Amino acid sequence: MYGLMPECSLEMPDSYYGLDDYEKGVARWCSGCGDHAVLSAVQRMCREKQLPPEKTVFVSGIGCSSRFPHYMDTYGFHGLHGRAFPVACGVKFRRPDLNVFVVTGDGDCCSIGAGHWVHGVRYNMDITVLLFDNEIYGMTKKQTSPTSPLGTKSNTHPTGSVLPPVDILQTTLGLSNVSFVAQTTDWVPGHLYATIKKAHEHPGFAFVKIMMRCPKFMQDLVDQHTSNRDLYSLLEHDDGIQVDPATSQLFENKVKHDPSNIHNARELLENGKSWYLGLLYQNQEAIRYDLYGSQNLGFSTDQKMEALETELDKFAI
Ligand code: SF4
Repeated sequence: MYGLMPECSLEMPDSYYGLDDYEKGVARWCSGCGDHAVLSAVQRMCREKQLPPEKTVFVSGIGCSSRFPHYMDTYGFHGLHGRAFPVACGVKFRRPDLNVFVVTGDGDCCSIGAGHWVHGVRYNMDITVLLFDNEIYGMTKKQTSPTSPLGTKSNTHPTGSVLPPVDILQTTLGLSNVSFVAQTTDWVPGHLYATIKKAHEHPGFAFVKIMMRCPKFMQDLVDQHTSNRDLYSLLEHDDGIQVDPATSQLFENKVKHDPSNIHNARELLENGKSWYLGLLYQNQEAIRYDLYGSQNLGFSTDQKMEALETELDKFAI
């Protein structure tokens, strides 16, 4: 018997987006920079999810990673330093139908943009956030960033930085209305891809910290991070990030962690024994401000018009 399996169809979809529908230009990052790996993973994810390029927006601030929107053939906004979150929230608030991504760096998010980071998490709009953490200001040629390890020698601290770094994950987990926190690295492609996909599927503000290589200015750190596999632990759970068997085999240490348990997530990070890769926390029930906005902030259109007329009538002569 020849013929089609019942689940097969020869019908062609109206349109199919290939990788080249998301690619634009030649990325001007240094050779070996981790940013290239994230760009590739995001483009693959867009293709798998068939995100229409005209319905997709990448918003960034300033820094090496913030050049990201230039290399996506979607809409993009390469904005001001630290201001990616309010721009992205504005886009999502008025256009809930769009797929909105934020690309930011450790300096952009955790220093000048820290206030917006706090409220971006709290507003919990349906936005995927990719924080590229290379622990240095790379674009401006090696200054200490908020996440540089203590003692990092840089142009601003030639004898070594003197303040302990900001703990991005603990800080985010401590913010009110947090709904999704994950960690991955640019040098484990299978895990990177699966994490970005899971983040995009999350209905809310999905915050992903990506441990990032900056071979230009942080080669020692890159060597330390990439050559010691026993420093890492893979978080495993049915509700967590699912990786393929080949990726799973790369990890010598595996830890069971239920991502609904925020206290356990904090304890894991506090013990400081390992770098945990995977989904630390997810709460799909957290309040979403973008949904509130799409309901006209609780007012009907008529009520809004009436309130506006009342205010304008105060100026009537
Ligand atoms: Fe990447 Fe560092 Fe070069 Fe910036 S300076 S493009 S972060 S390797």
